[in-house]
Amino acid sequence: MTIDDFLEEITPYAIDRGLHYYERGAMENYERDSNNRWTAKIKALKETYTATLQMDDNNLITGYSCNCCDKDIACKHIAAIALMIHSENLLGENRRAMEIDMKDLISTN
Ligand SMILES: [Zn+2]
Repeated sequence: MTIDDFLEEITPYAIDRGLHYYERGAMENYERDSNNRWTAKIKALKETYTATLQMDDNNLITGYSCNCCDKDIACKHIAAIALMIHSENLLGENRRAMEIDMKDLISTN
C-alpha cells in the first residue's frame, strides 16, 4: 500500500506518539538500503528502538517491523518512520505528500 494508506491504517494513538518522536528529534538517523528497506533508530525514554519499513520498487509498503513489544500492529516507532518519510517527502512524490494533513490523521477515527 502507499505510505498515505499506511498512515491511515495506523492507530491514532500510534500516530500521535510517532509524531511526538518525530517532532522532538528522536529519530537518530535513518537509512534506505538498496532493497528499498528503510531503517530508523528512535530514541525513547530508556531504550532506542529500531523500526524498519520495507517497500517495493514502486514505493509501496510491503512489510514493517520494530523491536519493541508491540508485535502485531504498527507501533508508534513504525508510525514515526512513516511520518518522517511522509512529511519530509523522502519519496519525492509531491502530489501524494500533499494529500494528507497530519493533524487530520490524529483527529479522525
Ligand atoms: Zn515499536
